[in-house]
Amino acid sequence: MVDPDTTARDSVRVMVVEDEPKLAEIVARALAGQGYDVDVVNRGDDALRRLMAPQAPWAIVILDRMLPGIDGLEVCRLLRAAGNSTPVLMLTALGSVDDRIDGLDGGANDYLPKPFALKELYARIRVLLRAEAITANAAVEAGAMLNVGDLSLDVERLAAFRGDERIELRPKEAAILACLMERADRVVPRWVIHEAAWGDVDAPSANDLDVHIGRIRNKVDKPFDRVSIETIRGAGYRIRSETP
Ligand code: CA
Repeated sequence: MVDPDTTARDSVRVMVVEDEPKLAEIVARALAGQGYDVDVVNRGDDALRRLMAPQAPWAIVILDRMLPGIDGLEVCRLLRAAGNSTPVLMLTALGSVDDRIDGLDGGANDYLPKPFALKELYARIRVLLRAEAITANAAVEAGAMLNVGDLSLDVERLAAFRGDERIELRPKEAAILACLMERADRVVPRWVIHEAAWGDVDAPSANDLDVHIGRIRNKVDKPFDRVSIETIRGAGYRIRSETP
């Protein structure tokens, strides 16, 4: 049985929210050249609506501060107020310390004043994506108890619970499940899971992750008639807090 997903290219989707068409095009082309899948949005309200959608696939948002509709700062504040933790790199022409603080207070993860060198943009994006992956590892190491719907996970004891039923897990299975559960209802890029479970953005082999996901499904979903772990073709996996 071959999962069709294994043939799809691993890609990280980036949303670029920028109303200046030339700059949007330069950034989009540059990031595409770095291997990212890029979507350009030119209004703040449009960006917010898409990011809040239940299947929002973006691993990071490059968000201009000044935008039509809703400005970038407000987009960021509203996202965070709704519990959305997608990393935000805010771009601005305003380089003062106060503006920088406003952006970070508003929930932006980092701040890049215009004009910027593309190399610096690439570096900032890598740092933010890596920080996301490391956050997952930190929770695993802290032995946090994770809950998604009626599924809970005790990472330290390598045990999951579906309701009261105890499920034994192998260490990799627990690490992968923790990575997904920490980002419930969000698409988790394959490489983020690789980093959380293997400590490297590249898994040992192309379908290793899929094999592990299959085993996890056989333990936490199938015996309980659930389909909580979804394959998102070309992107990664997502665990749903509400399952049919
Ligand atoms: Ca602008």
